[in-house]
Amino acid sequence: MTTFGARFRRMLQQPGSADLARYQRLLPAIEAREAALAEEDDGAFRALARDARDDAEFCAVGREAARRALGERPFDVQLIGTLAMLQGQIAEMATGEGKTLAGALAAARYALAGRSVQVASVNDYLAQRDAEWMRPLYDLLGVTVGHIVQASTPEQRREAYEAQVTYAPISEIGFDVLRDRLVTDPDELVAVQPDVLLIDEADSVLIDEALVPLVLAGAAAGADADIEMAEVVRGLRPGLHYETDDDGRNATLTDEGARAAERALGGIDLYAADQIDALTRINVALHAHALLRRDVDYIIRDGEVRLISASRGRVAELQRWPDGLQAAVEAKEGIAASESGEILDSITVESLVRRYPRVCGMTGTAVTVGDQLRQFYGLEVAVIPPNKPCVREDEPDRLYATVGQKDRAIVAEVVGANAAGQPVLIGTLDIAESERLSRRLTAAGLEHVVLNAKNDAQEAAIVAEAGAYGAITVSTQMAGRGTDIRLGGSGKGGAGAAVEAGGAAEAGGAAEHDRVAELGGLYVIGTGRHASSRLDNQLRGRSGRQGDPGASVFFVSMEDELITSYAPDTPAPGDVAADGRVRDAKAAEAVAHAQRVADGANLEIHRNTYRYHELIEKQREIVLEHRDRLMRGDAALVALGTRCPERFEELSGTVDEDVLAAAARTIVLYHLDRGWADHLAQLADIREGIHLRALGTGALGGGRDPLGDFQTEAVKLFTSLLDRVQDESAETFRTASITPAGVDLDAAGLKRPTATWTYVVQDNPFGSAMERAMRRLAGRKDRQ
Ligand code: ADP
Ligand code: MG
Repeated sequence: MTTFGARFRRMLQQPGSADLARYQRLLPAIEAREAALAEEDDGAFRALARDARDDAEFCAVGREAARRALGERPFDVQLIGTLAMLQGQIAEMATGEGKTLAGALAAARYALAGRSVQVASVNDYLAQRDAEWMRPLYDLLGVTVGHIVQASTPEQRREAYEAQVTYAPISEIGFDVLRDRLVTDPDELVAVQPDVLLIDEADSVLIDEALVPLVLAGAAAGADADIEMAEVVRGLRPGLHYETDDDGRNATLTDEGARAAERALGGIDLYAADQIDALTRINVALHAHALLRRDVDYIIRDGEVRLISASRGRVAELQRWPDGLQAAVEAKEGIAASESGEILDSITVESLVRRYPRVCGMTGTAVTVGDQLRQFYGLEVAVIPPNKPCVREDEPDRLYATVGQKDRAIVAEVVGANAAGQPVLIGTLDIAESERLSRRLTAAGLEHVVLNAKNDAQEAAIVAEAGAYGAITVSTQMAGRGTDIRLGGSGKGGAGAAVEAGGAAEAGGAAEHDRVAELGGLYVIGTGRHASSRLDNQLRGRSGRQGDPGASVFFVSMEDELITSYAPDTPAPGDVAADGRVRDAKAAEAVAHAQRVADGANLEIHRNTYRYHELIEKQREIVLEHRDRLMRGDAALVALGTRCPERFEELSGTVDEDVLAAAARTIVLYHLDRGWADHLAQLADIREGIHLRALGTGALGGGRDPLGDFQTEAVKLFTSLLDRVQDESAETFRTASITPAGVDLDAAGLKRPTATWTYVVQDNPFGSAMERAMRRLAGRKDRQ
C-alpha cells in the first residue's frame, strides 16, 4: 500500500493535529511480534498484557487478543488511535473506523497500569452495548469490566465502578457524584475517585453538552404556573411591544410593551425597585412566549412539555429548563405545572470532566473544535487517517431562494435516487422539519422511515438498516448516534434483530453490500446546514465508511434560520432560476459566513458561561472537601464541643462518645447541605438580579461588569455560608434532643429530603439574563 504512506504523510501535516509520526514509528515493532504471539495459548495473554513494558508491546498483545476474542484484527490506524488515547489525546477517527475497539484497548492498558477507567458513552444503549461487545477482549486480557445504565441500582453501580473499566453514560456518572454528595455514611458512597476518563463522541460531550447542568433535586412543591403573566404576554405583539434579537436568543419589551404590561398588571411601575419580581416574571414569560417554539424547541406529548435537545434534535429525556422558564412554557401551553423540586446540588458536564486527572477520547469530528478543546480542557486532537481512503463525493451546496423551493428539490432528488434503489439518509435540523418533509415524501408516494423521539435501542436498529437497498430514512441530527450504517443493511433483516446482534455482528449479505455499492452507496442529503460545519460533517460521515462509495449534499435556502439569524444582511440573490435555484457565488458565501458568526457566538457563550460556573465549582469543591472530612472523622464533634463546652459536658455524662460524635456529624452535615442548597438558589437569584438592575438603570452602557459584580457578591455570600452553618449547627446542638439513641432532627423540625431525583437542565437557551446583558454590551461595543 504505497498510497497509505503518502496519505499518512499528508495527515502528519494536517493543521490542528498532533504529530502522528511518533505513533507510526511504533508500528513495525508491533507487527514484528505478531507471528510469535499467534503461537501463545489464550491463557498466556493475561500475563503478556500485564507485563507489557510499553504501549507498543501492549498494542501487539492487544491486537492478537482482539483477533482471538472478537474475530477482528485491529488495523494500524486503530492502534494509532489507541496510542493517541494513551497519550491523553482525542483521537479523531471517522465513523465506522472501529473506535469502540481502539478505545477498549486504551482502556485495558490504563487499567493494567493500575488505573481506574471510566468510558463515558452518550446513552444507556451504547454503554451497555460496548461493555458487552468488548467483554471477551477484556476477559482475555485479564481486565474486569462493568457498565451502568439509568436503571442500575446503587448496588449494581458500586459493583460496576469496582470493575477496572466502567462504561456509563456521562450523565449517570454525574448523577452518582451528585447523589454521593448527600450521603451521611461513607459506606453508602457509590462513585469512585475520578482517575481516567475516556470519552466516546468526545466533541458532543466536551463541546455541545459541556455546559448542561446535571441536577439533584429534593422533593418539593412545583413552581406555580404563572398564568397571569402568560396571559399578559399573549396580548403583546412582536415589533410593537417586544423585539427579538436576530439570533433569536433574546426578547425585550419595548417602551410601548412595558406600558401595555404595566396597564395589564393594574398600573404598576415595572422598573420600580420593589417590582423586581414582576419584572423577572414578565421577562421569563416573554421568553417562553416569543422564543421557545413548539415542535422545534419542545413538543407536547401526553400532556407534558418535552424538550428537544438542541444538539441532538430529539426529545431529551429527563431534561427541563430552569424552573421559572419550565413553568412559563407550561403556562403558555395551558398545561399543569410539573413537579420541580428544590435543587440540592448541580454540576456541569464540563466541571465533571475537569475532575479527572487524565482525560482522553475519540470522535469522528474533533479537529474543527481543536482550539476549544485545547483552551477549555488542555486536550490535543490527533487526526487519524481512515483505514481505506474515503471516496465519498461531497457535492457543493444546492442553494434555493425559498424553503418551499428547497423542499421540492429535495423530494425530486430523493425520487431520483430511490428509483435506482440507492439508499438515502435525509438529515433534518429539527423535528418539525422532519415531519414536514415526511408529509412531502408520502405525497410523492415514497415509503420511508422517520426517526425522532424513539428510544436509543430502536433508533440504533433503524439507523443500522439505513444502508439497505431502496431505504429512505429521515432523521434529525445524527450526532452521538454511535451506530454504524453498513451498505446493504445490517444483514439481520429486521430492526429488532440488529439490536440483539449489537455492533459485533458481521454483516451477512456481502452480495447486498456490493449491490448497493454499485448504485453509489449511501446518499446523504442534509436539509440545511447546521450552525457548525462540524455537525454537517457528522452527518456526511455516515456515508463512505471503510472505503465504501457514497455521496453527500446539503440543500440550503436563503430563508433558512442559519442565514436569517447569523447573516441577516445577506442581499437578496440576483441570479435565480425558475425553480428557485440560486447561482450567485455571493449567496453561497453567506452560508460559510453565517457558520463562522454562529461559531464565534457559541464560543463566546461557552467562555462566559464557564466563567460563571467556574466560581461556583470552586466553592463546591471547598464545601465537598470540608464535608468529606466531617463525614469521616470527629471534626464535627470537636467543632461543636469547642463552641458549646457546657452542652458538651452535659451530654458526655449521658451519651457515649461515638453516639455523640455521630449526632454532631448528622447535625453539621444537615446544616451544610441545607446551606449549600440555599447558597445555590441565592447565586441564581444574584445572577438574574444583577442583570435586571443593570438593565433597569441603563447602566450597562456605562461599562459595568456583571460578571465582576457576580463574583464579588458570590464570594461574600460564600463566606457567610460557612459562618452560618457553624452558628446553626451550634444552635441545634444546644437545643435538639440528643439521647443514647442519637439526635432527633425531625423533632427539631429539620428534615433531610426524603426522596431525591435527578434531571438535566437544558441551560437557559438564551443564556442567563447576565449573559444576555454581556452580549448586548459586546454588541454595543461593536457598534461604537
Ligand atoms: P465507530 O465507533 O468508529 O463508528 P465501531 O466501533 O462502531 O465504529 O465499529 C464499526 C464496525 O467496524 C463494527 O461493526 C466493527 O465490528 C467493525 N470493526 C472494527 N474494527 C474492525 C477490524 N479491525 N476489522 C474488521 N472489522 C472491524
Ligand atoms: Mg462509535
